Amino acid sequence: MNIILMGLPGAGKGTQAEQIVDTYQVPHISTGDMFRAAMKNETPLGVKAKSYMDKGELVPDEVTNGIVKERLQEADTQKGFLLDGFPRTIAQAEALESILKDLGKKIDAVINIHVDKNILMDRLTGRIICRSCGATYHKLFNPPKVADTCDRCGGHDFYQREDDKPETVENRININLEQTKPLLDFYEARNVLNTVNGEQDIKLVFKDVQTILDK
Ligand SMILES: [Zn+2]
Repeated sequence: MNIILMGLPGAGKGTQAEQIVDTYQVPHISTGDMFRAAMKNETPLGVKAKSYMDKGELVPDEVTNGIVKERLQEADTQKGFLLDGFPRTIAQAEALESILKDLGKKIDAVINIHVDKNILMDRLTGRIICRSCGATYHKLFNPPKVADTCDRCGGHDFYQREDDKPETVENRININLEQTKPLLDFYEARNVLNTVNGEQDIKLVFKDVQTILDK
């Protein structure tokens, strides 16, 4: 079974990926892992990718696609794979389609874990840090026992990292939404897109995922 997993940051993609891998025995192929492996093994494409990254430049699509193609030919993908973080653009999606065609494969299901933007905001902007001792909390998931008081040192002064501030998070979500939209349309048009409600309990999310994959 060849699967693509999609979802915005904070949607719970990592947890679902783990469960899919465990249950369906397919390798989890994330862009980050692929790049690290190609660079570590110093494959020609890995070396090329590294030369761009070392300069702080974006790795061109032809290099990324080549790395994906090599990875999708490895023996462990015989029974399927779970792609995560790729494709990110229509150009990459088209490249993937032609790579799979060459290999006599196709995508069976795209699973998009959907969580409303406001809920993502709550999940992603909740981290606060105690200024005096550095203890971290999450306003929703792990709040201090006594409101506005650090469990560890009793301090009352909390701050947020730049990355966790609402403006930053909202901007990140908006960029992601814009990038994802055309991809969802692309797979919708190919009748492989499945949207799962990621606002439910993690177990229920996975139940929905299973229903799709067992079809
Ligand atoms: Zn503290």
